[in-house]
Amino acid sequence: MVPDRVPYLYISGASFSGSTLLAFLLNAHTHMVSVSETCGVLPHRLIKGIDEYRCSCGERLLSCPFFIDVQERIREQGSTFDLRDWKNHFRLADSLLFQRLLTRPTPWGWSELLRNVVTPLFPGAARREREIAARNLHFARAVLEVSGKRLFVDAQKDPARVRFLSRIEELDLYVIHLVRDARAGASSYMKHNPANDARRGARRWLNANLTSDYARHHVPASRWMRLRYDDLCADHQGVIDHISDFTGTPRAAIPASFFETPHHIVGNEMRLAGTGEIRPDNSWRKRLDDVQVDVVRRVAGAANRRFGFDWP
Ligand SMILES: [Zn+2]
Repeated sequence: MVPDRVPYLYISGASFSGSTLLAFLLNAHTHMVSVSETCGVLPHRLIKGIDEYRCSCGERLLSCPFFIDVQERIREQGSTFDLRDWKNHFRLADSLLFQRLLTRPTPWGWSELLRNVVTPLFPGAARREREIAARNLHFARAVLEVSGKRLFVDAQKDPARVRFLSRIEELDLYVIHLVRDARAGASSYMKHNPANDARRGARRWLNANLTSDYARHHVPASRWMRLRYDDLCADHQGVIDHISDFTGTPRAAIPASFFETPHHIVGNEMRLAGTGEIRPDNSWRKRLDDVQVDVVRRVAGAANRRFGFDWP
């Protein structure tokens, strides 16, 4: 039985910070469930189209019994929902500029006040927010019902979601800012898109982590925690116990074969190729030369220290 206020853990942070690994680990917890990215499959991952896209259980997403059940239960609660296009992303304006204005976390308290005044001026924005909020709530409730678990974990990472989730009264919201060392983060952005040099990679890391940090103002201090990827790799059971305590969920042992327990996870490619072995990815040491490391230090070094790393 899902309580009236749905227990909801949101993972915010930059891409390539280990959120899919964390989603797998938490989904192997007796009382937690995650499909990883709650906004569904990103267009760039649909190389063969949605009809051929595989859920991590091995089934095609559109014929996965878990997701078909979830879809039915969302519709029973009164939201429109289609596995082909989940529409859980808080897209309030068609223009990218206005979308940023209405949704991007900032360090200034007044911008929130301004946003509350400006949003109703955009035709349909308030109605869109209500619809999307309801669909996200119904999605979490449906996943909890189908899985029989008690804490829903959303690993979408987008910092802008924190504000919108915090405005849904029926959610009992907790937030984790998952962060990885700036050199590793910048190097991953460079690896996945050759258009990113060290400066751009570091800037993207910085941007995502600063906006995640600004978003903490949307939840009480007791509902916010920062987690370093390295700590997760060093002692994953200790970290998962800490997350259990943080969210008021009973602790549970994560099985060594956590990759083999049933998962219905969408998102990055590691979900189909994982071995279950957890070790920190330090390949940036081979990919970045001294000049590039120095660029990362100048762009993102101060923030890296502030987020708890001992470099630079
Ligand atoms: Zn599945």
